[in-house]
Parts: sequence; C-alpha cells; structure tokens
Amino acid sequence: MKRPKITVVGSINMDLVTMTDQFPVQGETVRGSEFQTIPGGKGANQAVAAARLGADVTMIGCVGDDEFGEQLLSNLKREGINSGNVRRIQNTSSGLANIILSEQDNRIIIIGGANEHVSTDYLDQTKEAIINSDYVLLQFEIPKDTIMYCIELCHQYDIPLIVNPAPAMELPSEWWKKVTYVTPNETEHAQLFNGEQIESLIVTKGKGGAEFILDGKKQLMPAYNVKVVDTTGAGDTFNGALAVRLGEGNSLPEAVQFANAAAALSVQKMGAQAGMPTKEEVNRLIE
Ligand code: ATP
Repeated sequence: MKRPKITVVGSINMDLVTMTDQFPVQGETVRGSEFQTIPGGKGANQAVAAARLGADVTMIGCVGDDEFGEQLLSNLKREGINSGNVRRIQNTSSGLANIILSEQDNRIIIIGGANEHVSTDYLDQTKEAIINSDYVLLQFEIPKDTIMYCIELCHQYDIPLIVNPAPAMELPSEWWKKVTYVTPNETEHAQLFNGEQIESLIVTKGKGGAEFILDGKKQLMPAYNVKVVDTTGAGDTFNGALAVRLGEGNSLPEAVQFANAAAALSVQKMGAQAGMPTKEEVNRLIE
C-alpha cells in the first residue's frame, strides 16, 4: 500500500500535569502528589498518531524559544515527523496546558503562546508541503483566520482535508462545504451543527463508535470493546488514523473502522501520545 503524505496544521503544547489529593481554595497553598511534563496539543497529537501508523507526516506549527520548545521539537523528531517547517518564535512561550488533576476533578488553563503565531503568512511560506499532501489535518487550537485560510487553500488546490473542529468554534455554514470530512465529537456536533446532518460529517461517539454518511444514509461503525485506562487523545488518534487510511486510498467505512480500532488501543494507556498504536497493533485488533 502507498505511504500517504499527511500534513498537520495545528497546535503543539506541553501539558504540565500536577496531581493532588486536594484543590487549593482562594489564597491557599497545598502540597500536590506528583508532577509530569507531557507533550500534547491536538496538532502534535494527530501528527504522532499518523506517524506511528506509518505515514510520511509533516508538522506545520510553532513552538516558543523556551526549554519546552526544544523538548517539543525533539519529541516530533523522535516520532519521525518532518519538523523542518516548525518555527521557533522568539521571546514567546510554547503553548501550554496547565492541568490540575485529582481523582474527583480536573482544572485546566491553556496558554496559546507560540500557537498564536501560526499565521496566514506562515501558512503561505509552508504552502509547498500543504499542496503536496495526500491529506491535510486541521484542528481549532490556532487563530481563526489561519484556520479559514487553510480550508481555502486546500479547497483551491483540491487537497483532501479533514477538519477536527475542537475546541468548538463557529464557522459560516457554507465553509463546511469546502471540507472533505469534518469530525466533531458528540458535544461539538450539537454545538456546531445543531444535530444537523451534512454529507461530510463523521461524528465520534466515544464508546459508541463513530457515525458517518454513506450514499446519503447514516451508518454507525461500532467501537471496539476494550478496558479503558485514559481516554485523553482518543479523538486525536481517531483523526490521525482516519487520515492515514483514507490517504492510502481505502474506502470510508474501512477507514472509520481502522480509526475506531486505533483509538480503542490508545485509551488503554495513560496520556494522549503514549497509547497511540502502530499499524501492526491495529491490524492485530481488526483481524
Ligand atoms: P478525547 O477528547 O477524549 O480525545 P473526543 O471527545 O474527541 O476524545 P470521542 O468521541 O470520545 O472523541 O472518541 C473518539 C473515538 O475514540 C471514538 O469514536 C472511538 O472510536 C474511540 N473511543 C473513545 N472512547 C472509547 C472507549 N471507551 N472504548 C472504545 N473506543 C473508544
């Protein structure tokens, strides 16, 4: 099977995860139990998912000139992702997610940082990679004008594009017609489409699998029944896998089944990227 060229336009973050038994109230200091830095961001996660599944992946995104930027770049390189286009922004922090976790609750503060510098100018400068892709993957953690520019560019050059509209953000409804597939989860689907069906929709439904439209009819591809450890990054694995399978030239039902299998494997380990499977692992589950 051909090795598809996948370009991911999106965010690159460092997740700063603090675990605690007790949340501090206003003005209080408490002792936490553990701290970890874990590479994340929907863009980088989807790039890692596609690379593990054997695609030729190019990342279009920005990191800061801080220590995290260095680590995030090395992480992409270690995964075999082409990161020559990833720009380091001077005097800017890398994108961060400050996550406070306890057994009962979690609280998250996101800092866009260098992700806010993924501009239309930058996209123009990296256009070569985008227009030479078998599939482009785009999410909503970068500026809105860049998102719209990327959709327009792919439409103009007839490059297949998967838009994962997370976190949910409204776009003028006619823009969805320019996109090959749009992959909201159930919450984003309700927020952005009011439950409405359009031909290009693939709605992920957690352990309920994924719904898509084939020959005008709604189809449900059930999820794989697995023991869940951590669902963080399930959606990202689904999107990365979907792009790889479609980029290889497979049919939509086949690609959705493969994406369900990849995502099911990813929820069996802690952390977004840690559980992302290889192609052999997915094939073993499907057979
Ligand atoms: P997240 O934000 O946790 O990364 P999401 O909300 O974007 O995920 P979901 O719809 O929850 O996306 O899950 C995406 C896909 O992952 C599902 O379509 C399914 O294939 C797989 N998946 C998620 N949860 C489970 C589960 N408990 N068991 C099996 N597969 C799952």
